[in-house]
Amino acid sequence: MSESTSALDSAQLHAELDTIFDEVIDKLTDLVAIPSVAWPSFDPAHVRASAEAVASLARDLGLDVEILTAAQEDGTEGYPAVVASVPAPAGAPTVLLYAHHDVQPPGKSEAWTTDPFTATRTGDRLYGRGAADDKAGIMVHLTALRLLSDRLGVGVTLFIEGEEEAGSPSFRNFLETYQDKLAADVIVVADSGNWAAGTPALTTSLRGMCAVEFEISTLDHAVHSGMYGGIVPDAMLAMTRVLSSLHDENGSVAVSGLKSQAQSEIDYEESTIRDDSGVLDSTALIGTGSLASRLWTQPSITVIGLDIPDVDVSSNTLQSSLRAKLSIRLAPGDTPDNAVEAVERHLRENLPFGAELTIGDTEGGSPWQADMSDPVVQTAQQALTEAWGQDSVTMGIGGSIPFIADLLDVFPQASILVTGVEDPDARAHSANESLYLPDFKAAIVAEALLLQKLAHG
Ligand SMILES: [Zn+2]
Repeated sequence: MSESTSALDSAQLHAELDTIFDEVIDKLTDLVAIPSVAWPSFDPAHVRASAEAVASLARDLGLDVEILTAAQEDGTEGYPAVVASVPAPAGAPTVLLYAHHDVQPPGKSEAWTTDPFTATRTGDRLYGRGAADDKAGIMVHLTALRLLSDRLGVGVTLFIEGEEEAGSPSFRNFLETYQDKLAADVIVVADSGNWAAGTPALTTSLRGMCAVEFEISTLDHAVHSGMYGGIVPDAMLAMTRVLSSLHDENGSVAVSGLKSQAQSEIDYEESTIRDDSGVLDSTALIGTGSLASRLWTQPSITVIGLDIPDVDVSSNTLQSSLRAKLSIRLAPGDTPDNAVEAVERHLRENLPFGAELTIGDTEGGSPWQADMSDPVVQTAQQALTEAWGQDSVTMGIGGSIPFIADLLDVFPQASILVTGVEDPDARAHSANESLYLPDFKAAIVAEALLLQKLAHG
């Protein structure tokens, strides 16, 4: 790929894409046909085959391609990733383009209206497992490179992971092992989505997460409730008091010391949240502030485990000790260490009857917030706006993408852009996953525009 010439605008890129779009869909269809599930109970040969298929598509573009693996923490080998590169022209930045070629398992086949591994086009949507998450992300990168071809004025490293849906167990080691190959000025993660079909968005915040296990004891052994009930407090009584102190009467988190942030520029309709979540008509939503802020920039706490006797085998006994596990979502700006400390302090301060508290395992992943003053973020917003012909918004995600934290740790100087092709109806991870084709096209054009803008400074 040689010197860049004059830049193409959005209309020219859309026109050029239209002439090759059927081929792009054929290639995506071939990728969807490979059931590349990177879970231990599935055949790893499919993941190797999908790595080979992606490598071959990258080779067709003239990229220098390798299939690489790294060891997981337990020493076993991780799933294969495809790394391909185009060196940067002198003085130009290098852009890392990330997507993943593994997919979620299909789940129950009865739930699908089409075969999950046969990409099927119906109207403006392409159905199939991985049609959106994230084989479309791979095709966004490859097709943007193809559209620019010899106009590409930046260095590119294509990095297509093979175990994202399995929790990226070798990812951190992979980044460290191949740090020199992967080093980049800008990282484009094509594994998120847009605000709505037809409305582009850059994902600029992710909540973090931590888990806290603890045990509450009031007795050194369980005793008969007829002998001691009414005098001796059981561990369950203390536990219910402590758990109920975690939220106020609105259901907002009542633990002081946890961080939260300002409102978002866009908001959800309450009906959307109700429909998508399946919350019962009679059940009120909890928290205060905009719905988007409750999901993206405020903390949440959920009791996800409680060790008590099952109702069917329960006896008339005062429980001596009980264990619980909390899952805490952290607002951008907080840290897992701060959150664990705040929750532990809250539990101690709200423990009734002089019960004993033992904190068990804790684990955490950091939240993330894009640096909105980074010119690369502004450039990405312009590229999205031009490609869609519709103002791009910023959005958050209530969940976390743990590999983003790893990328930030290993490449702290890089600008990270979280983009994607999914829309609210894409049903990634569920039956009838699909890709909205007009947004897929716009995402390809947006990435080509972004690469051009980065090349021209
Ligand atoms: Zn994904």
